[in-house]
Amino acid sequence: MSYIVCRNCKNVVIPDESQPLNFDKCHNCGHVLEYARDNTELNCIMNNIEIPKIAYHKICAKCHSLNPRQTGMCLFCGSTRFLLQYDANSVNNYNKSIENLSDNPEMVVMVHNQHNLASLFLKILSVIVGLFDFLFFFAIGIEYTLGLANVQKNPMLAVSQNYATISLILVLSLLLAGFLISFVLPRVSYKDSFKLSSLVGIIVGLSTVLVVKDIPMMLIAILFCGFLSGLGGFIGELLVHKILNRMN
Ligand SMILES: [Zn+2]
Ligand SMILES: [Zn+2]
Repeated sequence: MSYIVCRNCKNVVIPDESQPLNFDKCHNCGHVLEYARDNTELNCIMNNIEIPKIAYHKICAKCHSLNPRQTGMCLFCGSTRFLLQYDANSVNNYNKSIENLSDNPEMVVMVHNQHNLASLFLKILSVIVGLFDFLFFFAIGIEYTLGLANVQKNPMLAVSQNYATISLILVLSLLLAGFLISFVLPRVSYKDSFKLSSLVGIIVGLSTVLVVKDIPMMLIAILFCGFLSGLGGFIGELLVHKILNRMN
């Protein structure tokens, strides 16, 4: 499929086969329109890459004289074998536009977004896994110390009577949940691991809104829980890096 493209405002028109090609100025911005034979050429124009053009002159394969493109026979020796070459300026422009590509913020952002989208799913998954891990460890911890049934009977009383034990279980569950998250994700930076793991703690901390009506207390709980699970994630990532380094 061929296209008519404006390099300036990226306006693309699919030409009507039954009509002669219309190479007027761009309707949007008045820039000169260009013709793209296929998707590759379209991509080049859209990313502002110059397509190298064939030079006006061709070279005789036998005597290496320059001949105008239209001649069928060498004007100097009569040979009919010609070599085509790219226009030097056009090749230079092509090289320059390829170099500029890496500095073009628009392109960099595009590549970034694609990458983020793929890992976003993994991140959400790992936070969900982390939350389940937390609930699992917390429930087991309560069951082995106070007995789940006892706590369920009167949660407020159980918490006030066994404040230290429950706090300890909470701390350990948060650390472990954060720790395990670093094994769900492929190798990430320490900072990312901390941030992601701390999300689990923040969500756990947010759930205190159900019991605590005091906003400063809630904020402290969120920060405290977030820090603990984040710390777990950081320690886990340390281990992941160590294991991977040993394997390499
Ligand atoms: Zn335009
Ligand atoms: Zn010749």
